[in-house]
Amino acid sequence: MTSKQLDDLRSILDPSEIIERDAPGYTEAAAPWSPMADQRPPLVVQPSSLESMTKVVKFLYDSDLDFGIRNTGTGSVSARDVIVSTHGFKDFDFNEEAETLTLGSGYDWGTIDQLMEKRAPGWQVVGARCTWVGVAGSALCGGLSWLSHEFGMISDPQNLLDMQVVLRDGRVLWATEEPDLMWALRGGGGNFGGQYCLKEPNFLPA
Ligand SMILES: Cc1cc2nc3c(=O)[nH]c(=O)nc-3n(C[C@H](O)[C@H](O)[C@H](O)COP(=O)(O)OP(=O)(O)OC[C@H]3O[C@@H](n4cnc5c(N)ncnc54)[C@H](O)[C@@H]3O)c2cc1C
Repeated sequence: MTSKQLDDLRSILDPSEIIERDAPGYTEAAAPWSPMADQRPPLVVQPSSLESMTKVVKFLYDSDLDFGIRNTGTGSVSARDVIVSTHGFKDFDFNEEAETLTLGSGYDWGTIDQLMEKRAPGWQVVGARCTWVGVAGSALCGGLSWLSHEFGMISDPQNLLDMQVVLRDGRVLWATEEPDLMWALRGGGGNFGGQYCLKEPNFLPA
């Protein structure tokens, strides 16, 4: 049953969005920070567009596959069957006038610091202290920055303005459209929206 479901998942994706366990790049895409947590799932999927991500999320929730959403792996996320990598999401748009930065969830904060240095030297963003930490995972668990003493946590309302979310049924929304969802995403604990809560119906948005 599981291998049939894995084949069905492969069939809805472009081959470039699939990383098998024996392929180059698998470890970079799947290994958790803690080796003890590593379940070495047979498949990593790396959607390269929002459309593809919605198909994957809906498919996985309609299946009984065990899966985890992963960016850098620093939170030691792993899964028995499938890792959904966010590395395909690399939007970066700094609006100097509005003082806003729009980021893809596939980044780590060190890369963002480098991009900011090129795009807008002298500007800094309230990102994680450790360069390898991911942008979404850190916001979902609160997010401590070298700037936090003065400007607050990464997830505080003055820093985190909104998050685009794919719901389990494949719908896409901006979290500020659902204030309770936005509230929960601001360091709600257990990485709300990520692995630990995705399979817990009590915590899920409808
Ligand atoms: C050595 C070390 C140093 C750290 N330093 C800092 C620091 O300086 N500042 C700080 O604030 N925190 C720090 N942390 C904590 C870190 O923020 C958390 O571990 C965070 O969960 C890592 O997020 P990630 O995306 O990098 O990791 P991942 O393991 O990829 O993800 C962590 C969790 O977030 C979920 N997640 C990630 N991206 C998404 C997404 N796009 N959509 C839905 N769910 C998602 C995953 O499912 C998983 O549950 C550190 C942790 C370690 C181990």
